[in-house]
Amino acid sequence: MANVRIERLHKEFRGAGGIVHALADLTLDIADGEFISLVGPSGCGKTTALRIIAGLETPTSGRILFDGRDITRLEPRDRNIAMVFQSYALYPHMTVRQNLEYGLRKRGAPRDERARKVAAIAAMLRIEPMLDRRPLQLSGGQRQRVALGRALIRDPEVFLLDEPLSNLDAKLRVHMRAELAALHQKVRTTMVYVTHDQLEAMTLSDRIVVMNHGVMQQVGRPEEIYSRPANRFVAEFIGTPSMNMIEGQVRTEAGRPLFTGPGITVVLPRDAPQALPSSGRATLGIRPEHVSLVAPDAPGAIPARVTVSELAGPERFHFVAVEGGSIIVRTPAATVLHPGETVALGFDPDRLHLFDGTGEDAPA
Ligand code: ATP
Repeated sequence: MANVRIERLHKEFRGAGGIVHALADLTLDIADGEFISLVGPSGCGKTTALRIIAGLETPTSGRILFDGRDITRLEPRDRNIAMVFQSYALYPHMTVRQNLEYGLRKRGAPRDERARKVAAIAAMLRIEPMLDRRPLQLSGGQRQRVALGRALIRDPEVFLLDEPLSNLDAKLRVHMRAELAALHQKVRTTMVYVTHDQLEAMTLSDRIVVMNHGVMQQVGRPEEIYSRPANRFVAEFIGTPSMNMIEGQVRTEAGRPLFTGPGITVVLPRDAPQALPSSGRATLGIRPEHVSLVAPDAPGAIPARVTVSELAGPERFHFVAVEGGSIIVRTPAATVLHPGETVALGFDPDRLHLFDGTGEDAPA
């Protein structure tokens, strides 16, 4: 096992279309045994970061250190890493056993060591009954377990996973997600996990790195990223459905900071002003679960009209129209609203987020 330091990493790709800045000044310390996820939209640079850690790509500048050793120039095979991709990359003509022991064989490991390790990994991943089958005779989840096993058997210092669950159907994904979490508990190897699925990142990770356009936007524990997003990008990227965003103005009235948007006036907590945007223009963010249905005459109640109401298992998402646009309200399933119905909304004052025009957060 190893800690990983990513130091001032830059990566440019030069092509016919010009220069692409895939990574800009990425610095990150990953603790020994940590499960860290890189998330972000397509093209944000997460795979490039992982490939540089693996040695499959050379950085334009910056360094990678494992336990303080600079490994930036080492070949992938000399790094003691194992990588699992979304395409499992198993050898189709080999049995599961042969696939598992391939790396050990290449290293010249003796037969009894190979047998012992295959048995241990197969037991851990519950693939013993499949050892003599070929990959095509396995289900997607079983194949994915073999791919994990093939990586694990080498006892890597660092495990790199690039969207390993994305080829599985929704139900199997949830199942394999739990298996991966259990596996990490067991082996405690440092894991760097790339996904565009924020739910996967939220449930699996010790910490999450949110990236956009090659730039790290925030790093933190899942609950930190969710409840204290560093900027508007993170706030909108993390959470399903997305955080509600309302454009408006902030000003101070009788010593109290106020946010006003179309048909909305919200009193902000007193400590908000020091971070208020100087232009006065601001965006108020509030998650759907922090919007409640209130009495129409409650102070600050926001009039709204229900457009759509969706049942999502134990809860409901209500899409309601307010003067300035649309807001999503999340309630228990028992709260039934009908399209066309008039309601009044209240915002939990402790759960407001305020963003200025540049996207920086001034937590309200
Ligand atoms: P996805 O989720 O779609 O896999 P990603 O976040 O993993 O996206 P990267 O694959 O790291 O993104 O790509 C980052 C940027 O670098 C993109 O703009 C991509 O087009 C560009 N890029 C990646 N590899 C190359 C390459 N070999 N040559 C030129 N540009 C590249």
